[in-house]
Amino acid sequence: MTTPVRRQYLDIKRRYPDCILLFRLGDFYETFDEDAKVVARDLDIALTERAFGKGPKHPLAGIPYHALDGYLGRLIKAGHKVAICEQTSDPALSKGIVDREVVRVVTPGTVIEPSLLDERSNNYLASVVVEGEEAGLAYTDVSSSDTVFVTQVSLKDAPLELARLAPAEAVTPQGIGGALPDGVRAEAVPDDAFRLEGSREMLMEELGVATLDGYGIERSPLMIRAAGGLFFYLGQNQRQALERIARLRPYDLKSTMSLDPQTRRNLELFAGGRWESKSFSLLNVLDLTKTSMGGRLLRQWIGQPLMETAAIRQRQDSVEWFHKDRTRRHRVIRTLSEVSDVERLVNRVKSSSSSARDLAGLRRSLEAIPEMQAVLGEDDGQPVKWLLSKLPSCEETAAVIRQAIADEPGQLGEGGVIRPGFSAELDELRTAARDARGYIAKLEGRERERTGIRNLKVGYNKVFGYYIEVTRPNLSRTPSEYQRRQTLTGGERFITPELKEYEDIILNARERLEELEISLYRRVCNQVGEASGPVLQAAETVAHIDVFAALAEAAERFDYVRPEVDESAAIEIEDGRHPVVEALLPPGDFVPNDTSLSGDDAGLIILTGPNMSGKSTYLRQVGLIALMAQMGSFVPAKSARIGLVDRIFTRVGLQDDLAVGQSTFMVEMVETASILNNATSRSLVILDEIGRGTSTYDGLSIAQAVAEHIHNDPALGCRTLFATHYQELTELAQTLPGVRNYSVSVSEEGGAVTFLHRIAPGGADRSYGVHVAQLAGLPRDVILRAWQLLGYLEGSGRNGAAPGAVENAAIQLELFAGTPAIAEELLKLDVTAMTPMEAINALYVLQQKARDG
Ligand code: ATP
Repeated sequence: MTTPVRRQYLDIKRRYPDCILLFRLGDFYETFDEDAKVVARDLDIALTERAFGKGPKHPLAGIPYHALDGYLGRLIKAGHKVAICEQTSDPALSKGIVDREVVRVVTPGTVIEPSLLDERSNNYLASVVVEGEEAGLAYTDVSSSDTVFVTQVSLKDAPLELARLAPAEAVTPQGIGGALPDGVRAEAVPDDAFRLEGSREMLMEELGVATLDGYGIERSPLMIRAAGGLFFYLGQNQRQALERIARLRPYDLKSTMSLDPQTRRNLELFAGGRWESKSFSLLNVLDLTKTSMGGRLLRQWIGQPLMETAAIRQRQDSVEWFHKDRTRRHRVIRTLSEVSDVERLVNRVKSSSSSARDLAGLRRSLEAIPEMQAVLGEDDGQPVKWLLSKLPSCEETAAVIRQAIADEPGQLGEGGVIRPGFSAELDELRTAARDARGYIAKLEGRERERTGIRNLKVGYNKVFGYYIEVTRPNLSRTPSEYQRRQTLTGGERFITPELKEYEDIILNARERLEELEISLYRRVCNQVGEASGPVLQAAETVAHIDVFAALAEAAERFDYVRPEVDESAAIEIEDGRHPVVEALLPPGDFVPNDTSLSGDDAGLIILTGPNMSGKSTYLRQVGLIALMAQMGSFVPAKSARIGLVDRIFTRVGLQDDLAVGQSTFMVEMVETASILNNATSRSLVILDEIGRGTSTYDGLSIAQAVAEHIHNDPALGCRTLFATHYQELTELAQTLPGVRNYSVSVSEEGGAVTFLHRIAPGGADRSYGVHVAQLAGLPRDVILRAWQLLGYLEGSGRNGAAPGAVENAAIQLELFAGTPAIAEELLKLDVTAMTPMEAINALYVLQQKARDG
């Protein structure tokens, strides 16, 4: 026999088979059956059993309602979708069982709880639909935005764009989820959700418009379908989030620079260093923003630099305006410190999940706007007029909150949220409760006097309400109207009719006060919600102001300059620096370097130099300066001119990609192939040590062929930086007109080598590998031996002698005299096919054998 509650549960669960169902029962969210087992395991909470009526026992695991946020986060992170089922009728008024309903389904892409979100990055929900060679893409951040962005891209570019967004979830039709980039969680919905006609109708209905023309997407079926899928998914899971969507905004990838995931990683835009730490990143250096909204916007800009000179210059103008007047900049920065995360606050207010403190924070933020308007409106504010025109004052909304909500509101329902004077009724209730409490507080003194019991106490507990407590020795002196309620070890507790009367006043007032406060608060939330359009607009502008002021502050603090950005094929940098490496070194220690690259006649730089001398730093610095220039920032250099770069490609170092089961060399070649297949004449290609993962001759041949191809292919000929330890490549400059040789200068005094980190024209004359081994602390005898061998190898190489001809070598290696076995082993080595590391290892083994005799 199942009970009605069990039937109700099963009924709801049937509708949400792929979700963990959190079923509200009084003060708990309970889970049952399989859900309970999963929840108990993933949240590490007790799994118990419960029977409904006389029926069998079912597994049960519950979480207290007030701890929902924390547990929800862990369930979402563990990869679950969670349906929250609330009691929707008042238990006190319900006949039979309480009504229950799923009020929302929480998924990684639809969370709005601050505890589940990273303040400084967006949490995107994306949607993808594919037709032939094209894809439609839509995305939004339901926690902070009221806009759905839509675009149409080639099938080749779709994974790149998805990787940039790194959405928490991507909605797809059945069966294409597998095509998403690694790490993107796919949510398949029925194909019907992506049909053109249905999608169009859904968009028009939800947005309350009669045509999609106003958004400029009427003729883009793939955009409409992608948005349709996204709307469908939100409608299913988060009706409220769907209601907050106010517009569609199409965008075109051609107007932004393209960056693939390995380039983002190699240039260390968001994380870097050996431990992929956030502190070794460009974002970390540049992020002097004050608000989370500004932090998120800056992150977007770094991930998506622009391709249009006019738009770039508009940003530069704004940065410059804040840069040139420090007083003004600091005034704005101080004002920004008052601003909370308005975008997310507003969306919480609209979804009825805000706290009263949120509203107070929103008010303080809005009150900062007039000061910002005043600064932007200053006489020479022409460059920032466009910002001013997009910054509504929002004074009305601020006033609504100011009038109704206390400055430091407490918990909703406890009486401290609404400002005194806002509601006469509420004030009266508060006074009544206060008077009654005051009366009871005085009662203690009066009763002590009246009864002569000096230690008589008035107290309160939840079960008995107010009481008078008298200790045992004094019990005989209690007046007759005292009614006994509770016996303690040391005394008795009593009530009196008078006490009850005032208690009733307090309790009634409290109940009424709670109701009234909640309803007034909701009214204010609704009013604020209705005005959310201008508030979100202001928030977006404030985020821009924050980023401009931060970039200006960075420019001054780190001595950056405004670069010239044009449509030429040049990259000319005078005294360029690497923004992150520079920040990690003591001031003044970073050695600046020039760069001169031109797609027209000097497009390919071959950079040679010892390991650890600064080649990689130099390569990345050029990429970062181009990227910073195109995001609108100033750059670390004395001067810079950047001809627009449509995409930065990088192939850097040896990376351990064992996780995907490919050899490092294979990964290296796949990435190189992708560069050669996708680069255009506007791209910037950065190749660091390609060919290193295979034998010397293979590696050298591949490296040279790649360099020749980039140089000679008319469709490419793009600006390229090529760092290599193959000195042979420097000979290319003699045959290919666009190739320039550079090397990192080294100073050698008395056998000691210092890396000067200075890049100078000309190829390196030697490799300094043994020097690096020495710097790395290899034992002295190994180093000495390496010098001997190097001398021999270089000698034999130059003479054209066979590597095996040890007997004829100029240097007689007395070591071998008594140990012919070692000489034999040495002869077996194919030295030309070994990497330096293998050579050192072999050397080590041989030496060990020689020692052992
Ligand atoms: P490898 O070939 O082993 O990767 P590399 O030649 O690419 O070495 P980098 O990794 O670029 O060398 O630089 C090594 C270290 O030298 C950096 O961590 C940095 O501390 C320092 N360095 C690099 N460039 C400069 C510079 N321009 N000024 C000062 N220090 C620098």
